[in-house]
Amino acid sequence: MLDYYSQSYDEARSAFLAAAKNVAQTRVFSQELPGYLGATGETLTQDAVYIGDPHAKQVLVMLCGTHGLEGYASSALLTAFLDAVGNKTIALPTGVAVVLVHAVNPYGFSYMLRTNERNVDLNRNFIDFSTPTPANPLYAQIHPLLCGATSPQQQQANAHALQQWISEQGKNNFFRALFDGQYDIAEGLIYGGNARQWSNHALENVAQKFLQHKDKVVFIDWHTGLGEYGQAFYLCFNEPGSSEWRECCDMWGQDNIETKAGFDGSERPKYSGLVFNGVRSFVGEARFVGAVIEFGTTPPEYTISGLQADNRLRFDTSLSDAERERLKAEAFDAFCPLASAWRQDVLQEGLRISERALHSMN
Ligand SMILES: [Zn+2]
Repeated sequence: MLDYYSQSYDEARSAFLAAAKNVAQTRVFSQELPGYLGATGETLTQDAVYIGDPHAKQVLVMLCGTHGLEGYASSALLTAFLDAVGNKTIALPTGVAVVLVHAVNPYGFSYMLRTNERNVDLNRNFIDFSTPTPANPLYAQIHPLLCGATSPQQQQANAHALQQWISEQGKNNFFRALFDGQYDIAEGLIYGGNARQWSNHALENVAQKFLQHKDKVVFIDWHTGLGEYGQAFYLCFNEPGSSEWRECCDMWGQDNIETKAGFDGSERPKYSGLVFNGVRSFVGEARFVGAVIEFGTTPPEYTISGLQADNRLRFDTSLSDAERERLKAEAFDAFCPLASAWRQDVLQEGLRISERALHSMN
């Protein structure tokens, strides 16, 4: 099972496409990111695979690598899923097809960054840019404490000041400031961008090609970094109490869908511009149910230092090669731990969750 985990974007992409070749009745749709090459000079593509009857009315859609770096775990999962369909361990119910999208954000995947080629967090980019972008004045307060420090002394002073801010403003406000998303500081964390990004348009193209005239779409956007170590953590974005939301409860368990965990006991942030909302708008009239599903990696403080490492790798020009390698390793460990138990649990649990979604459409 551990062989499914790749060390590079190229390796992950090749394994995914090779596994797709071994599955009957697949169609592949690859889109190349123009103007950028990967970390080893490779071309960067978002690859979508449609499996099953083209006229199937119900579709399970699973995405990997919206936050590039997090794709190392979910790429392994999607490739394992393809193999399981190929060797018939997993069977698609009649009238059900599957769409897998590999490396929604291929740039981040290749460079081991969460954000895309423009430092945009794609999971905040699906808003209507013809109207004013959502304001997040709290983020502006903590931004100088989170980003920009280059020396250990400065970082320590900032960390101290940030703790002070949290003790005054409360954890709820901290998580909202950080995770709601922000549209004003382009070099900051969880920046939603000032326009629709290439990956956003590419996903719309996938929906145009594969997801029109469907009755129902079950959607999973796989992520890592939130929740208990090695365990699935569900962020369902259907309206609580709606029939779609109840369907998610039936599919994956009400306790999981209603959980309050994952934010260190704080409320769930409001989040703007989610891929979930974007894809929902791209599939027309289809009933749309699903969730972002995370696998927990490290405690929240450490996840936040992973976000900071990601930011420094992009913007801190004073980094030595050794520091750069250390930060990369830190970011990687925060979003795709090397521990084999973690890696095995993610695959097993991820396949189980996918099968439940398939059987809910039976
Ligand atoms: Zn994520």
